[in-house]
Amino acid sequence: MKIKNLFGQGRPVFSCEVFPPKKTSPADSIYKTLDGLKDIKPDFISVTFGAGGSQVNQSTREIASIIQNTYHIPAMAHLTCVNATKGEVTALLAGLKDEGVENVLALRGDRNPDLPPKTDFLHADELVSFILRRGDFGVSAACYPEGHPESADMVSDIRYLKQKVDAGAQHLVSQLFFDNEDFFRFLEHCRMAGITVPIEAGIMPVLNRGSIERMVSLCGASIPKKLSRILARYGDHPEALRQAGIAYAIDQIADLMAAGVDGIHLYTMNNPAVAKEISGSISSIRAV
Ligand code: FAD
Repeated sequence: MKIKNLFGQGRPVFSCEVFPPKKTSPADSIYKTLDGLKDIKPDFISVTFGAGGSQVNQSTREIASIIQNTYHIPAMAHLTCVNATKGEVTALLAGLKDEGVENVLALRGDRNPDLPPKTDFLHADELVSFILRRGDFGVSAACYPEGHPESADMVSDIRYLKQKVDAGAQHLVSQLFFDNEDFFRFLEHCRMAGITVPIEAGIMPVLNRGSIERMVSLCGASIPKKLSRILARYGDHPEALRQAGIAYAIDQIADLMAAGVDGIHLYTMNNPAVAKEISGSISSIRAV
């Protein structure tokens, strides 16, 4: 099943993201995560690539295969190209094809100052067209409601996004954001720029002050006053922050769905209990 075919069915798509567990996690931990996520019936599950370096238990390919072939849920494998040659990408794609994984999220990846980037791919649009020439894959790409941190401004970011879609990206998944108005403004600009593919809103529940501050400093997302107050008051009280963070994510999702978004992509952080709480609270909303 190609991801693009999940859209336009009269209800928003609901998808989840997982990452390959670290070597320090038990070998079967991905099964615990996926057992939990299966119960909430996501339309597809995506698996990150390379973000944990080499310190992971299983590869993106292995986990995408488990999602696709053991859980029978459409899988989308992330693939970054900043440190890859065309030969390496070709081999990775062949591996995904062998496993029956049909969908790829084509990413440039973050530049690592300690590693000179390879030059086969300069930007994700080149990876998108390369993948499409290599086989029958559904190809998705990333987008940034508040702009990519390297972008000079939103206008050029959306111009390059359009280039990525023109190269063949069939669906976009957004970076996390905490103010829905940022997403609505971005969506309007995309549509005005002629980007017509489905755009899923990326939602990350705030569960831990330290990790959210790290994440925000990496991806450049801003923290609205409402969320700052939550972090200030509950940041040192894990259970209270968990409840408030889940409530915040549910509130964001209900508002996004009321506005008729194409889909919600939940950054689960491999925490199926939280994903279940969120999904349980929006089950009737999802059905409308
Ligand atoms: P690009 O689309 O190449 O954009 C990068 C920058 O270059 C932007 O500023 C853009 O405006 C500009 N640009 C784009 N095209 C051109 C062009 N042709 N000429 C000049 N400038 C251009 N990282 C991981 O390592 N692993 C993951 O699994 C992962 N998953 C992600 C999932 C999502 C949904 C998102 C939003 C991000 C993810 N990332 C992941 C992070 C991502 O790799 C970084 O944000 C990276 O810095 C940019 O990747 P990109 O594909 O958006 O790059």
